[in-house]
Amino acid sequence: MTCLAHERQSEDRAGNSSLKGSAHALDERYSRQILFRGIGAEGQRKLAAARVAIVGCGATGSALAGLLARAGVGTLRIVDRDYVEPSNLQRQSLFDEQDAAESLPKAIAAARKIAAFNSGIVIEPKVEDLVPANIEALLEGMSLVLDGTDNFETRYLINDYAVERSLPWIYSAAVGSYAVTLNILPGETACLACIFPDSPRGMVETCETSGILNSAVNLVASIAATEALKLVVEVPQVRRTLLSFDVWTNEHAEISAAKPRPGCRACGERDFIHLAGEGRPHITMCGRNSVQIHERHRPIDFAEMDRRLQPHGMVRHNDFVLKFWHDPYEMTLFPDGRAIIKGTTDTAVARSLYARYVGS
Ligand SMILES: [Zn+2]
Repeated sequence: MTCLAHERQSEDRAGNSSLKGSAHALDERYSRQILFRGIGAEGQRKLAAARVAIVGCGATGSALAGLLARAGVGTLRIVDRDYVEPSNLQRQSLFDEQDAAESLPKAIAAARKIAAFNSGIVIEPKVEDLVPANIEALLEGMSLVLDGTDNFETRYLINDYAVERSLPWIYSAAVGSYAVTLNILPGETACLACIFPDSPRGMVETCETSGILNSAVNLVASIAATEALKLVVEVPQVRRTLLSFDVWTNEHAEISAAKPRPGCRACGERDFIHLAGEGRPHITMCGRNSVQIHERHRPIDFAEMDRRLQPHGMVRHNDFVLKFWHDPYEMTLFPDGRAIIKGTTDTAVARSLYARYVGS
């Protein structure tokens, strides 16, 4: 076989016109991973063809996205509703001070950062809050979903969707020095609702109240990213336990999740209450001292809104977010009308501020 024919064949195998660089360059880039016997050349091709969604791109999502992008997962869809702030930089490894200064949406900042170290894969940033109304659009076509969220409401929603569609997903969480993860293979293993029929009490504490060690995040992301590689490469060593670690006390635990729990609401009775969106409020608490207005159908012209808000406080916008400071509140507006209002936990105050300055 001539060199040229060999290259063309390799490129055909990669099967993705967006993969830049010659087959040789790709082999070189991933050579240390291909040398690892669990992956090999065949595994690397499966990674290139894989389509993985990461829901939430904070600390865990950043680490997951960074690892999988470097490993050569061909398409990564990154869904995140939030923007970068200085307090994120201690642990959210894809962001820098400039991103925080510009209040860039995390999905956009992540896509830019990844493109700088791996331009040969496709990153699909989605600046959206994953809710029942858009989960189909945001997760369709994905072969695996990874959890980078910080709340059980969204995790139960992902679980319902994944169980209904027989789509594998990996639960990951970290708070304080504690990290926990579970692979969910619908039809085979326990699902999230098998293990936690209701939000676990211990986990209602959040990074906002208990703080977080960046090492706990990177540990759980490393384990989950490795399980993701195994699922894509299709090897039998996929873990079937709920695994938890406390990196400070060195306690760790592992409980079997090999079988679904009989009578489980989601995977047993197939009662997908979260997918149906029951009881989902239009306004929710969103971290300490902030409220989110869930709005998706109010297109905002940032330039015009900027002019309108000028007399009422400081305003700043870029292509992705508009920030408005109206003492003691800080409102961040997204192009679809969604808003995060800081400085209050009172949903009525947030609603009235939004109604006054954006629209009711
Ligand atoms: Zn279940």
